[in-house]
Amino acid sequence: MMDLRELYQDILLDHGKHPRNKHALEHPSHFAHGHNPLCGDKVTIYLKLEGDRVEDVSFEGRGCAISTAAASLMTEILKGKTLAEADLMFKAFHAMATGTDGPETPPELEDDMERLEPLAGVKAYPARVKCATLPWHAFEAAVKTGALKSGEASAATVKTE
Ligand code: ZN
Repeated sequence: MMDLRELYQDILLDHGKHPRNKHALEHPSHFAHGHNPLCGDKVTIYLKLEGDRVEDVSFEGRGCAISTAAASLMTEILKGKTLAEADLMFKAFHAMATGTDGPETPPELEDDMERLEPLAGVKAYPARVKCATLPWHAFEAAVKTGALKSGEASAATVKTE
């Protein structure tokens, strides 16, 4: 029988070693930096919004395997989602990562939330929770304060302290 925990680890290792969507977007509408001083993780989230829908999202950065895998998984599942759905998924994922009660996940988002299950293991390691949630905090910062006007080069920075 396959050990479920081992399987989850394989998924995290795979995303940590071969992260998806790890590049800058050419024409982002929003972006933000995230920094987790506890571990040293740094991530930049690039976002292209079309109305209230995430048309494209990507990341760059340097961090531990957990933060990289979390960013990779996040960018995969957020593509095509509305901001309301993304916000709900962040809340649900935060609850999953901290072992607390989160919002109900509507049926259409259940498959995506299941893909984040491998990261739920961080709840046993409080110091790693911020590694897993950093990309989400940076995504939220990009949406809220990271809108770019043409020619603007600065971005919001969020610290998970
Ligand atoms: Zn980390």
